[in-house]
Amino acid sequence: MLVSAKEMLNKAREGKYAVGQFNINNLEWTKAILLTAQEQNSPVILGVSEGAGKYMCGYKTVVGMVNGMLEELGITVPVALHLDHGSYDGAKACIEAGFSSVMFDGSHYPIEENIEKTKELVAECEKLGLSIEAEVGSIGGEEDGVIGAGECADPDECKAIADLGVTMLAAGIGNIHGKYPENWAGLSFETLAAVKEKVGDMPLVLHGGTGIPEDMIKKAISLGVAKINVNTECQLAFQEATRKYIEEGKDQQGKGFDPRKLLAPGFEAIKETVKEKMELFGSIGKA
Ligand SMILES: [Zn+2]
Repeated sequence: MLVSAKEMLNKAREGKYAVGQFNINNLEWTKAILLTAQEQNSPVILGVSEGAGKYMCGYKTVVGMVNGMLEELGITVPVALHLDHGSYDGAKACIEAGFSSVMFDGSHYPIEENIEKTKELVAECEKLGLSIEAEVGSIGGEEDGVIGAGECADPDECKAIADLGVTMLAAGIGNIHGKYPENWAGLSFETLAAVKEKVGDMPLVLHGGTGIPEDMIKKAISLGVAKINVNTECQLAFQEATRKYIEEGKDQQGKGFDPRKLLAPGFEAIKETVKEKMELFGSIGKA
């Protein structure tokens, strides 16, 4: 059964480790992440962007697939199904479809509007026992070919949003989605410490977990980060393994064209990546 992310994140914050959010795109992705979490006895959060939700034929399809897998694969570790960077309408749709957690990303709105919309969604999630993530200070990344530097959140605005009763808070601290540019300035631990000072025990979320050096990840966890989002890294691992299979001509040997064979190396590569991240985040054995 899917669970809210609240308990697993509070435990992580207290235990000084982080739970990984791994974004899913299809059946192979979902199965690889769930099996790895079970094998490593780790809590896990499955992230679904609005685009991935559409790709997988809608949120109800996603909920059906994930619930089916939890049962058929005998998954007993805590699993949350979480909307990633949701719009207001997207969050409502996921709440209705049976997600156990949502993110409302109102970081592009003026702070008053972000507060207003977050507040409404917090009330809905509270009623149903779901967890909710909010965001302050946008997270950088590539948009129309321009790589934006990650913006740093205003700690007072973080407090205003945290006080609404959200479960977890994503604060921009110079992190970026996708691959990090060569000249990246690194995470702003000054901002992270200032945010932590204002929001107290609220579990903090680090987006753009791909390519942040390990020592920075560990330092971020020590400063209150309890959830780290990983997306691009699984995509790159899948791509590399699939490319190798085809370049070696394996798809042309015997029944190598069978999709269950063709997608297997990518599936194994995702499993390996998820395991490595769980090791780095310290969530192994914490289910
Ligand atoms: Zn993100």
